[in-house]
Formats: sequence, structure tokens, C-alpha cells
Amino acid sequence: MKSKVAIHHLDTYGESEIEEGLRSLLTNLGGIEALIPSRTRKVLVKPNLVFPYSWDTGITVNLTLIAKLVQMIKRAGIEVIIGEGGGLEKFGRDSLKKIGAEKLAKELGVPLYDFKKGKRVKVKIAQGKKVKSVTVDRVVTECDFIISVAKLKTHCECLVSLSLKNMKGLLCSEKQRLRFHLLDVNHCLVDLNRVFKPKLAIVEGLIGLEGIGPLPPGRPVDLGLLIGGQDPVAVDAVCAKIMRLEPDQVKHIKLAAEAGLGTIDLGKIEIVGEKLEDVIPEHFETPPSSIEGISPYEKIQIVAGKPCSNCVIGLASYLHGYFPKELIEQATSEVRVLVGAKARIKGTGNEIAIGNCLRRYKGKLPYISGCPPASDHYGSLIEDGLRGKFIVNRDMVRSALDRFFQEP
Ligand code: SF4
Repeated sequence: MKSKVAIHHLDTYGESEIEEGLRSLLTNLGGIEALIPSRTRKVLVKPNLVFPYSWDTGITVNLTLIAKLVQMIKRAGIEVIIGEGGGLEKFGRDSLKKIGAEKLAKELGVPLYDFKKGKRVKVKIAQGKKVKSVTVDRVVTECDFIISVAKLKTHCECLVSLSLKNMKGLLCSEKQRLRFHLLDVNHCLVDLNRVFKPKLAIVEGLIGLEGIGPLPPGRPVDLGLLIGGQDPVAVDAVCAKIMRLEPDQVKHIKLAAEAGLGTIDLGKIEIVGEKLEDVIPEHFETPPSSIEGISPYEKIQIVAGKPCSNCVIGLASYLHGYFPKELIEQATSEVRVLVGAKARIKGTGNEIAIGNCLRRYKGKLPYISGCPPASDHYGSLIEDGLRGKFIVNRDMVRSALDRFFQEP
């Protein structure tokens, strides 16, 4: 049997239009009552509300869409909760409040869980290739039906962030998130979806994100689309097409299909609602295929050693946003920026190491700590390096003095 994926197009984003759009999308998939079996104990709606940015930035999901979905589930007489655990520490631990999710949940009369704060349980992944267990909030294990409400957006590390990637927000331990990146986030996402695969995947592409996402410098793009289906791999494959990518270009989507979690074969996907060819924009910019490519300047080279997206996002924002572009014309030297635990020093020229996972270079190279490190701290080192200054920071001076005084 073919996997069914529904696409619905909206011209405007008022409350009634979004409600009607969602209803039409779900009707094309069989209707909410058919999609969620009546014996379901508890539904988890997992929206992508990972950063405190409003939905029209292309970064988070439209809150009205979440509200309408929750109301439909409640009307069907099924218990429902909302939960999210993603986000960077630098945005604070109350991202859900800042974004308006707390207020929304209160108005809807449903519990909202910040998975970073809950009681944790370990869940085994028997078939896991890279990870054999994950730690999630206990409440996640009490839910027998997960609905992913993802955003249609690009991602500097995974190329896209859609339904499968949205499940990473179930993880409640920062340590585990970092481990995912070190082990290979694409394989780890597939392992996570082996145990927590959404039974209904909705992607909000009313306003998507193109360029280097999932934060600025990524740019919002008005698409007016809702996409959904019961096979999250097929839904993500269709979204990849809308983003002008072939589904097998996206490693974690391809791996998920190979693991039998769904299909990316468009011949095995029945598309209902809009025609796929009618909703693919003429242009959609995706991130560079490698992390090294996030630097738009030849004179600033990125040496990537499996960094987490947190570090990549910071670097991309700095290089594409705050970096003084006129400096490139005047630059007399190149700078290599080492990022990620597996980055290796070359030993010549201006090199800097950033992030706690490279603390082994402290005292040997100009080094900026932090996990992720603050871009205004390493930005000034990069700029000094381009100006041809021999970059020295306090750690190096201290280390040199220590060596000097220790020598007989
Ligand atoms: S410093 Fe950056 S790359 Fe290293 S563990 Fe922290 S976030 Fe990941």
C-alpha cells in the first residue's frame, strides 16, 4: 500500500484559514477520528518550538496551528499534552514561556511539558545502530500516540529539519544531544525514530526557512503550505522535494528509509490535495553540503571535527551577520577556525580553537571556551588574525609563562 501524504495550500494565515487548512489536510488523510484510534490513552503533540523566535521568522511552528490541532483532538475525546525539550541554553530555560506556548497551553487547558525539566527515564533501542538507549521525560513514555508538528526549515548540519529531526526535541539531556553529534547525528536520529516514530507527522510550511538554518542567517520564505501524513519518512521526502532536494540527498531521511521506517520512493507515495509540482518554489536555497562551506570567505577556513549544530549555528550567524565584511579586502592573513571535538591542528598559520570539546588546545592555540562558545569572543580573535596580528590570548601567555618558570 502507498504512503499517503497530503498537501494543502493557504493564501492567508488568519485563525479561520489555518483551522480550515488543517481540517482539510486531515480530512484528506481520513479525518482525525480515523487517524487517532479511539483506544489511544494519551496523545503527545510535539511542536518545533525549539528557539524563542516567532513563527513568521521561519524558525518555529505557528501557535494557532497547534491550538487548532489540540482542540480537534480534545473534541475527539482523547487526552492530549504538548511537549518540547529542544533549545540552546543561551536562550534560557524558559523558551516556551517567551514564545507564548505556556499561555497557549493554559488557554487550551492542556499540560505543557518542558522535557528538559521533567523526570527522566531511559528507553532502550534494541535495533539501535549508534545509540542503544535514550533518556526522555517519563511523560513521553506514557503517550501512545505522538504527533510531530515540525517546521519546514533548513539545517546547517542535517540539511533539513522536518518530522524525523523534530523528534530530537524529546531528548531531555544536553549530554545526550552532544553525543548524537559526536556519534553522527544522522544515524542517531534514525535510532531515535525507531522507538519514537510519530504516528502522524504534520509539517508547517506556511512560512519556511531557507539558507543556513535553523536560525538566522536562514531567511523566512512564504510558501503557504501544510504537509502531513502517517509515514513521517514519506512526509519528509515530499518536503525535501518542496525544498528542491532529492530525498536521498538528505542522509537521515535516506537512512530512515533504509531502516524500514518509511518510504522515500515517490512512486510509492500517494500525494493528495495539491499537486507536488505546483507547490515547488522556483528557488529554495539549502545550506552548503559540508560544514566547511558555511564560511563565505576563502580567508576564513572552518576545520570541522564533527561539531554540534549549536557551534555551527553560532559560527554561521557571526560570519554571515556580524562579521565586518570590509575586513576581508584588507586581510593580510588567513585564519583557520577549529570547531568540534575531532578537529585537528595543522600547526602553521593563524589557527584558533573554539568550544569546550577542544579544550586540549588551551594554552597551545588561541582558544575560546564555551559550549557553545560566544561568537563575540572568538569573533575578535578571527578579526585580529585576518589583520595579520599574531593571535595570542591570555591562556597562551599563561601557559608560556608556566613553561618558562618550570624550566630549570
Ligand atoms: S563546544 Fe560546540 S561542538 Fe563542542 S560539544 Fe559544545 S556545542 Fe558541541
